[in-house]
Amino acid sequence: MQYVSTRGSAPALDFEGVTLAGLASDGGLYLPAEWPRFSADEIRGLRGLAYPDLAARIMAPFVAGSLTEDELLCLCHAVYGDFGHAAVTPLVQLDAQHWLLELFHGPTLAFKDVALQLLGRLFETFLERRGEKLTIVGATSGDTGSAAIQAVAGLERVEIFMLHPKGRVSDVQRRQMTTVRAPNVHNLAIDGSFDDAQAHVKRMFTDAEVTNVLNLGAVNSINWARLMAQVVYYFASALGLGAPDRTVAYSVPTGNFGDVFAGYVAAKMGLPIERLIVATNINDILYRALSSGDYSAGGVTPTITPSMDIQVSSNFERLLFDAGERDGAAMAEQMRAFEASKAMQLTNAQAQGAAALFASARADQVETARALQWAWRKTGQVIDPHTGVGLHCALSVAAAGTVAPGIPLVTLATAHPAKFPDAVERAIGVRPALPSRVGDLFGREESFVELAGDYAATRDYVLGHAGNA
Ligand SMILES: *Cc1c(COP(=O)(O)O)cnc(C)c1O
Repeated sequence: MQYVSTRGSAPALDFEGVTLAGLASDGGLYLPAEWPRFSADEIRGLRGLAYPDLAARIMAPFVAGSLTEDELLCLCHAVYGDFGHAAVTPLVQLDAQHWLLELFHGPTLAFKDVALQLLGRLFETFLERRGEKLTIVGATSGDTGSAAIQAVAGLERVEIFMLHPKGRVSDVQRRQMTTVRAPNVHNLAIDGSFDDAQAHVKRMFTDAEVTNVLNLGAVNSINWARLMAQVVYYFASALGLGAPDRTVAYSVPTGNFGDVFAGYVAAKMGLPIERLIVATNINDILYRALSSGDYSAGGVTPTITPSMDIQVSSNFERLLFDAGERDGAAMAEQMRAFEASKAMQLTNAQAQGAAALFASARADQVETARALQWAWRKTGQVIDPHTGVGLHCALSVAAAGTVAPGIPLVTLATAHPAKFPDAVERAIGVRPALPSRVGDLFGREESFVELAGDYAATRDYVLGHAGNA
């Protein structure tokens, strides 16, 4: 499989190349040159497979030429044989229409483990093959950082610098990063927002002063391999609910548009998805873009769902490119204008392409708390606030008739409630406990450095400390 950049001028690469590159050299994001397609019969043939076997079947076309079927199957068993639930991503029924897809049974209790645990092993495999080393620079609004650090801690060929916005991640999230003591792990607390941190990371990839000395890699969801791994649980859940002979809808708590874009990929591959609901909190650029075509960034308002406190959603570019007839030159021009003015209008092709599959809804803090209360009182489920945003949007879209009553509506449960115990306790009066497999998180010592908010502070730190592991 070959991959092309959304901005049209970076060289096409194979799966190994895009996994190690992250961002394309022209500033764009990589996508498969064409979508592999499964027929209804082929999808029917996937029923009953254990998760690791299903994962290998779904991902096989994307890694072709870079991993053999045996290598891929081995990786999938190593990664998904070690989750906290035998089903890896179990479904829980809430009522006649609503379901939760629990994605938080990995080591750091959020859905990002599903992809990052695999990505760590892919890095190891490809770097070993090439005899190279990789410096990962990433920005996190909370969950990416801990999942990435857990995925690479102690690896020989990978060093990681993880930026988080100081004071804007939960105690559990911060401790899951800063208590991992491995010589290849560096935690940087940046004075600024997640968007500032992410902008530094993107800039580093195009800064020759950095790229001349370091082989940079990305673990943000700009990395294609992450999205690919997330496609699997759309198939797993839809198959469990009767696909391909029944369509299924999803409500996806959205920040950087990675998780929900994986749903779009599943649909492109032939999975009959009725609708993807892009669920946002009050930082609602995507809600505005999808409901009125106005993609304009405002400031970021901190909420009880910090992993969704984002104004610029990197992966949205992938949708705009694919829905807008894959015109790389036009995309590059559109993004240049957006980066200058922080605002743009979707083209007609982009708006229509998006509207064919996506709907959007938003939840404010009160609505999010009410969704937690609904789940607790009606079904006895304790859910985290991010999942609460998704559930509020699922309930409101179902009430409005956007998704018909006979169609199962699955809310992605993106984090374990114990990652956000204060917000959960305020909403329902119950304080969720950390599962025992996480261990003594609050008894361990933390280690991180604090940096000023400007780009130079981050760049100089990385250049000064890389390779010292
Ligand atoms: C990262 C994250 C999200 C947002 O996912 P995107 O792929 O960035 O859209 C939602 N909920 C939780 C708990 C997360 O960690």
